[in-house]
Amino acid sequence: MSSGPLLEVAGLTAGYDGRAVLHSLDLTVGAGEIVCLLGANGAGKSTALGAMTGLVTASAGTVSLDGESLSLRSPHAVARAGIAHVPEDRSLFPSLTVRDHLRLADSRRARRRSGDPDGAPVVLEWFPALERLMATKVGLLSGGEQQMVAIARAVMGRPRVLLIDEMSLGLAPLIVASLLDVIARLAVDTGCGVLLVEQHVALALDVASRAYVLGRGVVTYAGPAAALAADHAELVASYLG
Ligand code: ATP
Repeated sequence: MSSGPLLEVAGLTAGYDGRAVLHSLDLTVGAGEIVCLLGANGAGKSTALGAMTGLVTASAGTVSLDGESLSLRSPHAVARAGIAHVPEDRSLFPSLTVRDHLRLADSRRARRRSGDPDGAPVVLEWFPALERLMATKVGLLSGGEQQMVAIARAVMGRPRVLLIDEMSLGLAPLIVASLLDVIARLAVDTGCGVLLVEQHVALALDVASRAYVLGRGVVTYAGPAAALAADHAELVASYLG
């Protein structure tokens, strides 16, 4: 294990069709730490997550996990190395049950890593509400329950870092708060680092220790979450422009 941060992103630059939309991002996430990545629509948050996982090709910069470089690896290899990505669209299969989703994610490798022959009960510790829904098709679940499945599925692989994109899309603030609560417990219990892209800024800053704000692909704030939460002017500026 390296003595540096768990996830370290340095100078990451990425975009589409030869045009960079993320410029030289420097960012770290420690073990068990929750960090927010905030910014207005189109600021480059999803692109940043995509560039970290290999979904978007980076034109410059490095991504490393516990000191090991993940640059130029495929999304599959990045996931195998221990970075799980919960995408904005949740990427669930409506006609499959909750159990199907968890089973599909329960690779033998993950089971070996945890020493647990059946991973499902372990994630149910954090998502007990899913227990009675195991046989239900995911398409029939509420938005909050679907998001639980998406996060639980990601946790099945025992990631070392969890990247969660717009978890709250279409969810009521009360549901978002309870999901953030679960994520906070997960981070403490498992030591997993969490990078959270979130529109419910106040709720997210409440559970995070640090935050980064992106404006047009450039970091405009990097520092304690509490300081940003208290700085209304900085928050408004980061969202309006
Ligand atoms: P949102 O909150 O709206 O999801 P974001 O901060 O996540 O925004 P990105 O989705 O990373 O921002 O988008 C950054 C810029 O890149 C935007 O100008 C967007 O239009 C552009 N972009 C995103 N995806 C693509 C793509 N697949 N092809 C071309 N341009 C893209």
